Amino acid sequence: MKQSMSFIPTLREVPADAEVKSHQLLLRAGFIRQTASGVYSYLPLATKVLEKIETIVREEMNRAGAVELIMPALQQAELWQESGRWYSYGPELMRMKDRHERDFALGPTHEEMITSLVRDEIKSYKRLPLTLYQIQTKFRDEKRPRFGLLRGREFIMKDAYSFHSSKESLDETYEKIRNAYINIFTRCGLNFRAVLADSGAMGGKDTHEFMVLSEIGEDTIAYSDSSDFAANIEMAPVVAEYEKSNEEQEELSMVETPNQKTIDDVSAFLNIDKTKCIKSLLFKVDEKYVLVLVRGDHEVNDVKLKNLYEASIVELATEEETKDIIGCVPGYIGPIKMNSEKIEIVADHAISFIVNGVCGANKENAHFKGVNPERDFKVNQYADLRFIQEGDPSPDGKGTIKFAKGIEVGHVFKLGTRYSEAMNATYLDEQGKAQPFIMGCYGIGVSRTLSAIVEQYHDENGIIWPAAVAPFEVHVIPVNIKNDEQRTLADRLYEELTLAGFDVLFDDRQERAGVKFADSDLIGIPVRVVIGKKANEEIVEVKVRKTGESTEVPVSELKDTIQ
Ligand code: ATP
Ligand code: MG
Ligand code: MG
Ligand code: MG
Repeated sequence: MKQSMSFIPTLREVPADAEVKSHQLLLRAGFIRQTASGVYSYLPLATKVLEKIETIVREEMNRAGAVELIMPALQQAELWQESGRWYSYGPELMRMKDRHERDFALGPTHEEMITSLVRDEIKSYKRLPLTLYQIQTKFRDEKRPRFGLLRGREFIMKDAYSFHSSKESLDETYEKIRNAYINIFTRCGLNFRAVLADSGAMGGKDTHEFMVLSEIGEDTIAYSDSSDFAANIEMAPVVAEYEKSNEEQEELSMVETPNQKTIDDVSAFLNIDKTKCIKSLLFKVDEKYVLVLVRGDHEVNDVKLKNLYEASIVELATEEETKDIIGCVPGYIGPIKMNSEKIEIVADHAISFIVNGVCGANKENAHFKGVNPERDFKVNQYADLRFIQEGDPSPDGKGTIKFAKGIEVGHVFKLGTRYSEAMNATYLDEQGKAQPFIMGCYGIGVSRTLSAIVEQYHDENGIIWPAAVAPFEVHVIPVNIKNDEQRTLADRLYEELTLAGFDVLFDDRQERAGVKFADSDLIGIPVRVVIGKKANEEIVEVKVRKTGESTEVPVSELKDTIQ
């Protein structure tokens, strides 16, 4: 590509409102421009990088047996009402009305859409497993869009969904895709870790996040210094005292309570009046009152509050009314639908909470009665809930916990039947019986990955693209474009290299050498070929962006040198 004909608006100054390096450099090197908060144009260079990342993603997803499709970004509200997320997703869901006053959302993710698609088309177990993916623009009205492409309101995601007739089949696909993700991020040159995570508004249980290690990461990873244990700290508060008392819990009467779907059922069971029950479960977070229904990974005894807060905001109580809360324990909670009249638990999971000495059982569809807070678990006031800390023993018993900051670039979930049940998506099994699809979902932030790469690959002069994702492979720069010999040789090399299959950017602009070199450093193409004074001897200079190393090379050896 000829630079004179491209659109690479570089900037000398650091843009005032860009806090992090990747944001600054992508603006300065002419890769992106903001049009509204969290909304960006990808200029030609960024488009090239996105293409390269997307190619890697496609190759690895296809190899893992996934098939590409494209679904609408515009989604009718009915789908979201069926799953319940129209009510629970919150303001991050971009909602709009069409000219007929019908509600729509711009897809932040596509579980509903794909579940309805597969529900209508796949009838038999014989067609399973099936994994579908797309690379598409997503919309989330983030509270704090920031750091450029890292947290946008419109961004590019690869999202995949798998459908199964057994848990084993889901496990198998989950592993395949987890490996595909390892390959993808490795090929992008990233230094990352796969960590245990919480499943967010998705409603799954088994889940891993892919975290690019970076100082500016918004997530904290707790990892063991001597084993593979790594978890998002959000879901790893210390519940050691609770674990200790597991044996004693056997003495408690465990009551099976299937199908507790309404707050009436729950409050009747707990023998607390309904209003009291609601009030007792409220915490105050960020000036809002929050219904606390604790959910976590049963096996590792984790609790995460932030997520519950996102899933279940109620604004009913006064501060005075919240003082009865005495704590919480890990357990499962399914997604909930809520209005001022009633709280409906969409999935059949036990609610896990402690109110006035009653605590949710750590088992689906069951509760404990007669729990003694001091005996059976540590009473955690919300404010005292201690999260895992550096220096704590690792939960797997091996080594000590260390912390690192991470940028979440990918996320894999086992959704189970969360969506298929809510949306009545079934297939016929071998006996001809209707069964809900067992599902998995798998996301990669493609535009975020681009930014994360820049975060890990830059120096004070600009970006240093890893070869696999660089916008171009070679940057051809004649020092003085007005010099005929240089101009002729540069033209020739541009053509020869392009013909030989190299992806070449040719700086044919009428600019001073200093400007071109500064731009070249900023843009960060791995290899630079400089045509200068020795053009008449057919000698050029080859400079490696990463090391700054430069050597004189006869033109006849150029292709071999930069191979
Ligand atoms: P975060 O915790 O950063 O808000 P998330 O957990 O909400 O991300 P997922 O629902 O897991 O995101 O979506 C899959 C992937 O999409 C994420 O792993 C991330 O790489 C990307 N992603 C999510 N939100 C954004 C955003 N606002 N801008 C850019 N990429 C995003
Ligand atoms: Mg998010
Ligand atoms: Mg997240
Ligand atoms: Mg996530």
